[in-house]
Amino acid sequence: MRIVLLGPPGAGKGTQGKILAEMFGVPHVATGDIIRDHISKRTDFGCKVEAAIAAGNFATDEDINYWVSRRLSEPDARSGYILDGFPRVLTQAQAFRGTVDAVFWLDLPELSAMERIAGRWVCPCCSTVYHLVHCAPRVLGQCDHDATALVKRPEDALDMMRFRLEYNRSQMWPVAEHYAALTSLVMIDAEGDAEAVTERILCELPPMPLAKLDF
Ligand SMILES: [Zn+2]
Repeated sequence: MRIVLLGPPGAGKGTQGKILAEMFGVPHVATGDIIRDHISKRTDFGCKVEAAIAAGNFATDEDINYWVSRRLSEPDARSGYILDGFPRVLTQAQAFRGTVDAVFWLDLPELSAMERIAGRWVCPCCSTVYHLVHCAPRVLGQCDHDATALVKRPEDALDMMRFRLEYNRSQMWPVAEHYAALTSLVMIDAEGDAEAVTERILCELPPMPLAKLDF
């Protein structure tokens, strides 16, 4: 199963990506994780993207496409993958040569997205995402799995939130339209708890392998 998850920040792409990946036994490929991994390992790409972020820019499409393609060519991705945060812009979608079975847009009103992002904390060690209200860790400020101190992602800071929501509207929506024209795009109501959203996605999954498309 090869799935692309699109939608505004806070819509639950990461949470659903992890759940679906486990369910189908395929990797959850999140560009955010790839980038954070490179930055923490101080690779050439990591240093380059860190400098770009500090200057208010993003990683280049060329770099992102290269690293995502490389990740998808690994043996564990042979039977599928869940793409989260990629393609983020139309040029990435147009350049992407991978196979996609289903594309979902996790739809969430902006106020709900802001509430989710504001309460979100992540574990820098295992990437588990928590929410102060909806999914609190057992010990405040500490990861349930490895007791690492939870942190806020820099992009979840209040002043970044509006920018990201606006950016999403202008950049990610064209990606959705691209897939709607090529194959199909399924809108998923992303309000409510994670299990309910997963159920909605599972109901909309195409019967395999009939809906399999290569482009
Ligand atoms: Zn952890």
